[in-house]
Amino acid sequence: MAVDHFDVLIMGAGLSGIDAAHHLQKLCPNKSYVILEQRERIGGTWDLFRYPGIRSDSDMLTMGYTFRPWTNPKAISPGDDIRDYITDTAREEGIDRNIRFRHHITSAAWSSQDAKWTVSAVRKSPAGRDEPVTLTCNFLFSCAGYYRYSAGYTPELPGIGRFQGRVVHPQAWPEDLVYSGKRVVIIGSGATAVTLVPAMAKTAGHVTMLQRSPTYIISAPEQDTIANRLRRVLPATWAYRLSRWKNVAFMTYVYQLSQRFPNFMKTSLLKKVREELGPDFDVETHFTPRYKPWEQRMCLIPDSDMFQAIKSGRASVVTDHIDTFTENGIKLQSGQELEADIVVTATGLVMQALGGIELSVDGRRVDTGKTLAYKGVMLSGVPNLASVFGYINASWTLKADLICAYVCRLLNFMDSKGVRQVTPQSGDQTAVAPFVENFSSGYMQRALASWPKQGAKAPWRVYQNYVRDTISLKWSSVDNDALEFSNPPLAPSAPESRTLVEAAK
Ligand SMILES: Cc1cc2nc3c(=O)[nH]c(=O)nc-3n(C[C@H](O)[C@H](O)[C@H](O)COP(=O)(O)OP(=O)(O)OC[C@H]3O[C@@H](n4cnc5c(N)ncnc54)[C@H](O)[C@@H]3O)c2cc1C
Repeated sequence: MAVDHFDVLIMGAGLSGIDAAHHLQKLCPNKSYVILEQRERIGGTWDLFRYPGIRSDSDMLTMGYTFRPWTNPKAISPGDDIRDYITDTAREEGIDRNIRFRHHITSAAWSSQDAKWTVSAVRKSPAGRDEPVTLTCNFLFSCAGYYRYSAGYTPELPGIGRFQGRVVHPQAWPEDLVYSGKRVVIIGSGATAVTLVPAMAKTAGHVTMLQRSPTYIISAPEQDTIANRLRRVLPATWAYRLSRWKNVAFMTYVYQLSQRFPNFMKTSLLKKVREELGPDFDVETHFTPRYKPWEQRMCLIPDSDMFQAIKSGRASVVTDHIDTFTENGIKLQSGQELEADIVVTATGLVMQALGGIELSVDGRRVDTGKTLAYKGVMLSGVPNLASVFGYINASWTLKADLICAYVCRLLNFMDSKGVRQVTPQSGDQTAVAPFVENFSSGYMQRALASWPKQGAKAPWRVYQNYVRDTISLKWSSVDNDALEFSNPPLAPSAPESRTLVEAAK
């Protein structure tokens, strides 16, 4: 059986996978590539999540691609518009022709003798049958996001079996869910919960957000007035570029201020919430987190929608712990009971590195948790593999763009030197920090053991800083002591392999 071979295999057709394909087409036009996507559509996160109100919680001027201006006046954008933006990019650039849908990658095995990855996937046929598929590639580029697609995270919920109402998780929102006039309890306090509260409160009987502890919530205008004005007077690309830098600078300023003067930041943030909710609201209990600003992702809300929902009386916040579910709702440890027809478990994601695939190098299984992250992109001891992990304190795409351009530079450098294999070698560097530092979110803490680690110094550090990454990924030389470029002797060529580029000639 002939095995399809590509120069680059991209895992995932979400925001990052389309970004990767764009960069390959532009910067490495002679490379063949394919995208394997487990789902039936483009868009990843922005196709999977369908809960009411789904939207970005960072501005689209930094979450859009560098190469494609975001021209929608809404800077905090509904999920559908983000999905359309990604899909349009793929269609207009002909990237969609290189996507193989319904291919779930399960493993990738690197062979130095063949200088290629053998990638195993399971293809779901239109009839629903699972068929094994094998492909090979010289470079594997994981754009598989950072969480498990099959199911979100649900903690142990005592007595849940007794509850007579409906329980839904935002990651698997049922199309048939009718909630108008119903009593809804949303468990959680993160971005998903604060999005759901005002969206559902429009028609629900009442919405209660039940949280164990509060999160920092900041309101921002849904429309970026400066960006919209700039678009009226400047060409789209220039307006976009300026607005993007304006927002990068503002985000960096807020983040740095939070790191250096956390108490000042905390006081300012809470003052704003008090102004929104008025003097009678108990901000201390419901909106004052126990951690410092930016120790967890902050929740951005457009035009104070969540505060408006609370003020209108259609929504409320309860800060307490669940004692047990009852037939009619939830009994809390304080003794209070919340009656509910529907409970939404906005309790988060299960983080997953590299799309959950099994990796091996020359027959040895790779334990990702024991590797060091090279520039936050490659793994120590693992040849010809890169992956995208964006920022937790800024828009994902800022870093995805940098990584995609970096990978193309690396591939072109290897071609210019005539080498087939590049392997980050950590030498005497040891793991000193998790992949993401100083971040206390539950979903992160649950997963970090199985994620690559950081070493003590560059290039083994993972920055959450766009300017430092621009220097590291865009402006630094590709060649350095931590990368081993090599040409291990090739095995006699395997007759069943053919490159699609060669086959097409
Ligand atoms: C609800 C929600 C809101 C968010 N809001 C923001 C925001 O406002 N701003 C921001 O910057 N970030 C946000 N994020 C982070 C978000 O994930 C990124 O913005 C971005 O969508 C990531 O793109 P990606 O392509 O890297 O990953 P994803 O969007 O997760 O796409 C990964 C793709 O890879 C596919 N895949 C995974 N594993 C495999 C496999 N084994 N085989 C084949 N295919 C596979 C998936 O099916 C998917 O299509 C949000 C995340 C969530 C969950």
